[in-house]
Amino acid sequence: MIEVAVVGAGISGLSVAWHLSQKGYRVLVFEKEEVPGGNIQTLRKDRYLLELGPQTILADKKVEEFFSQVGIKPEHAKESSKIRYVYKKGRLIPLPLSPLSFFTSPLLSLGSKLRVLKEPFVPPSPKSEESVAEFVRRRLGREFLDYIVAPFISGVYAGDPEELSVKHAVRRVYELEQKFGSLIKGAIKLRALGPGGRLVSFPGGNHALIEHLSSKLEVDTENVVLRIRRKEDRYVLEAKKGKYEAKSVVVTAPATSAGYLLRDISWSASQEFDKVYYAPVVVVHVVVESGAVPPGFGFLVPRVEGKRMLGVLFSSQLFEGRAPEGKELLTVYLGGATDPELVEQEEETIKATVEKELREILSVGKVEILHTTRWKKAIPQYTLGYGKYLELAQTLEGENPGLFLAGNYLFGVSVSDCIRASYQVAKKVEEYLSGAPD
Ligand SMILES: Cc1cc2nc3c(=O)[nH]c(=O)nc-3n(C[C@H](O)[C@H](O)[C@H](O)COP(=O)(O)OP(=O)(O)OC[C@H]3O[C@@H](n4cnc5c(N)ncnc54)[C@H](O)[C@@H]3O)c2cc1C
Repeated sequence: MIEVAVVGAGISGLSVAWHLSQKGYRVLVFEKEEVPGGNIQTLRKDRYLLELGPQTILADKKVEEFFSQVGIKPEHAKESSKIRYVYKKGRLIPLPLSPLSFFTSPLLSLGSKLRVLKEPFVPPSPKSEESVAEFVRRRLGREFLDYIVAPFISGVYAGDPEELSVKHAVRRVYELEQKFGSLIKGAIKLRALGPGGRLVSFPGGNHALIEHLSSKLEVDTENVVLRIRRKEDRYVLEAKKGKYEAKSVVVTAPATSAGYLLRDISWSASQEFDKVYYAPVVVVHVVVESGAVPPGFGFLVPRVEGKRMLGVLFSSQLFEGRAPEGKELLTVYLGGATDPELVEQEEETIKATVEKELREILSVGKVEILHTTRWKKAIPQYTLGYGKYLELAQTLEGENPGLFLAGNYLFGVSVSDCIRASYQVAKKVEEYLSGAPD
C-alpha cells in the first residue's frame, strides 16, 4: 500500500514528495508526461541551453535552505542582472533602483513623480477587493501603473492588471496598505518593497533540480491519473497503468486537471476549478551577435507602447554556459492575458513579429530564431474573487481527511512559492498520517 500518492511531478509535487520520503513514508509520484518537471523544462539545442519555462528562481533563505537540504548547489545570477530595463518611446530605460535614481530617471514624467509623493496621503479604498490596476491608479497614478507595475505584472503573471486581484496576486503590496496605510511608509518601515532573495539557476539549467529530486524519489512517468475516489479511509487512484490504493493523496496537477480528477469526490469543486484561467504564453529563443544588448537582466515592454512582446530576457548574460562565445541568447515572451490570441498564430507570424520588434527596439541586424514554445495554459491568474478557489480547496481538504491540494494556483505562481509551500503541505500530510488508521 502506498502511504502518499502525489499526483504531478512538477516542482510542487516533487518538493512535497521529497519532504515526506525523508520522513520515511512510502511515496509514489504519478506523472502523466514522459519527463518530470511540469513547467520546468530545459532544452539543449546546438550549443545553446534553453529554458522553455522558468528562467530564474528568486531564492530567499527558505529556498536556499531547501536546495542545501536536498543536496544541490545553485548558481547565482551575475551581478549585472540587477539592471533591468523598461522600453519607452524607442529607448531602453534602466528601472530606478534607489529613490534618487527614481527622481532623476526619464521613465516617468515630473507630474507622475510628484503624484507618487502624494501616496502616503491617499486614503484606503471603500471597496472590498480591487484589481491591481485600480489599486495602483488610486495610490500611485496612471503612469506608474503603465510603466512600472503593469510591466512587472507581465513579467510575473503574463497577466492583465485590470483583471488580477491586488489582494491575491500581489499580497505583500496589498498588506503594506492594510498595515501601514501607505506603500511608501510601509516600505520605509520594512526597508524593502521588492521581493527579497537572489536569482539562481543550476549548472545545466533548471531541469537539473528536477532530475536531482526525481533521482531520490519513486516517480512513475507516463502514468496519468484519471480518477480519484474515496473508499472508507483510503483513496483509490485509477491511472493509466492500473489501480492504486493510498492512505493519502496530494494532488499537485493544475486546477483544471485537479478538478477533473476529483469529480467523484466533489462535482461542484471540479466545476469551479475548471474555471481557473491560465494565461497562454509564447516563448521564443533568439540568437543575436554579442554586444547587441546592454548589460542586464532584460527589458519589459509596457502595453501602452503598442508592441506585442511582453519582455525579453538576456539569458546568456544571466548564467554561464547558455550560449557559445560571440553570441547572445535572448528569450522573448509574448501573448499573456492581454494578447491571448497570439498563441494560436502561425509559426511564421510569430517569428516575423519577434524579428520586427527586436530590430525596432535593439537596432540589431541579424536575428536568428532558435526555438518556439507555446504554453496554451501557462500561468494561473489570481483574478478578482480568487479567494473562492482557496476556500474551496480548504473545504475539500476539510471534508476529505487525507486529501491535500497543492500547486501554483494555490500558494503563489513562482517556483520559490511552490518550494516554500511544500514545507506546509508536507507538514499537514505528516500530521494526518501520524494519526491515520493503519
Ligand atoms: C513560460 C513560463 C515561464 C515561467 N517563468 C518563471 C520564472 O522565471 N520564475 C519562476 O519562479 N516561475 C516561473 N514560471 C512559473 C513556474 O514555472 C510554475 O508556477 C511552477 O513551475 C509550477 O509548478 P507546479 O508543480 O505547481 O505545476 P506544474 O509545473 O504544472 O506541474 C504539474 C505536473 O502535474 C502533471 N499532471 C497533470 N495532470 C496529471 C494527471 N492527471 N496525472 C499525473 N500527472 C499529471 C503535469 O504533467 C505536470 O508535470 C514560469 C512558468 C511558465 C509557464
